[in-house]
Amino acid sequence: MYAAAPSGVIGVLDLQGGVQEHLEHLRRIEVAGQPIKHASDLEGLAGLIIPGGESTCLARLLRIFGLREAIEAHYHQGLKLWGTCAGAILLARENIGEAPCLGLIDIAVSRNAFGSQLDSFNDEALAPALAREPIPLTFIRAPKIISVGTDVRVLLQLNDYIAAAEDDRILVTIFHPELTPSLAFHRYFARKCGLNPASGDETDLDPNWTPQSWIQSRK
Ligand code: GLN
Repeated sequence: MYAAAPSGVIGVLDLQGGVQEHLEHLRRIEVAGQPIKHASDLEGLAGLIIPGGESTCLARLLRIFGLREAIEAHYHQGLKLWGTCAGAILLARENIGEAPCLGLIDIAVSRNAFGSQLDSFNDEALAPALAREPIPLTFIRAPKIISVGTDVRVLLQLNDYIAAAEDDRILVTIFHPELTPSLAFHRYFARKCGLNPASGDETDLDPNWTPQSWIQSRK
């Protein structure tokens, strides 16, 4: 059991990368979100999103701020984790050719496996466990998940790679739902954290979303 009563709040690790976009998606599904900068901020969270960004930079900042051990400790007490892109790299047990960071989920990832920043792309695909309609997918210098352990379920397989997977406590996606109108993965993670997000329609797309909407909604 989780030591502190979960507050119903999902934290977003706020060291580097796509923080505001995740907080905005949490707001859209009516789940309280909080930027997390210090180990003490982790107390009582229901879940933590480790956003996309640059995994080498994030790994370094985690070490500098003592957050690596703190996240591990809270994970072992029941904190649910979701890593998007660089976040998935940090959570992977194996990072091909490099040292793993948190190593908490039994997946192997290959960094920058699609090529350079210029090889970033949008796609869409059906993930039956999450939504009935295809989900828009944005890949930005993404890794590939190339294998998963027996306790890990594949949520989205595309061509020669796995794009989303989970075990009982961790969700990983190599794309960025927070940069699309799709709320399906945020709702899915909130439920995984034991929360009750507002329900969406069949498409689970926010009709008011624009690429700049997180900027516009800041007062
Ligand atoms: N290429 C980055 C890395 O290896 C990840 C990119 C992202 O998070 N969009 O850390």
